[in-house]
Amino acid sequence: MNSMEKYNKLLSDLKDIELEKSTLEENEIVKRYLQLKNNITKLQNKKVKIYKEMKYQEYDKCNHILIYSKIENDPHESRKYSYRGCVKCGLDESVLDADYTLSFDEQIKYDYLISKGIRYMRGIKVEVVNNLDEAQKYYQLLKTNNPDINDEEFVRYFEAYINEKSQRGKVKEK
Ligand SMILES: [Zn+2]
Repeated sequence: MNSMEKYNKLLSDLKDIELEKSTLEENEIVKRYLQLKNNITKLQNKKVKIYKEMKYQEYDKCNHILIYSKIENDPHESRKYSYRGCVKCGLDESVLDADYTLSFDEQIKYDYLISKGIRYMRGIKVEVVNNLDEAQKYYQLLKTNNPDINDEEFVRYFEAYINEKSQRGKVKEK
């Protein structure tokens, strides 16, 4: 077959398939299937929208406890960039500086921070640098074991934990 013949064959195949497809689409079960598929897409879009609203409300409501989640030295400008993250709700400024494709949840944090204006985060500031995921886990664990603990008490525990961790690190180095 030369190219022209191949092309014509393809056109005729396509026509057959499209005909069969449109015949199928008249079938009641297929109609119902397509309708359900459409409903799923609509609901999924709605779910994304509501999830985003839910996270925005959570971030709005949270009285943040902010640690440094990322500190970066810029060798060219001899400047230090620091980013804060909340150990309670997980909102994290460092997403603004990410050099990778953001995950779904990170994108929500990014959009939220941009919508509020950069450097919006307010709350209790703790002068501690730590991995935010680890700090969040520590917060949740402490909250589970001591549900009545308040933010100030948490900060004291957390600072002691970080101190102890850095002491352990120093011992290891020796
Ligand atoms: Zn928070």
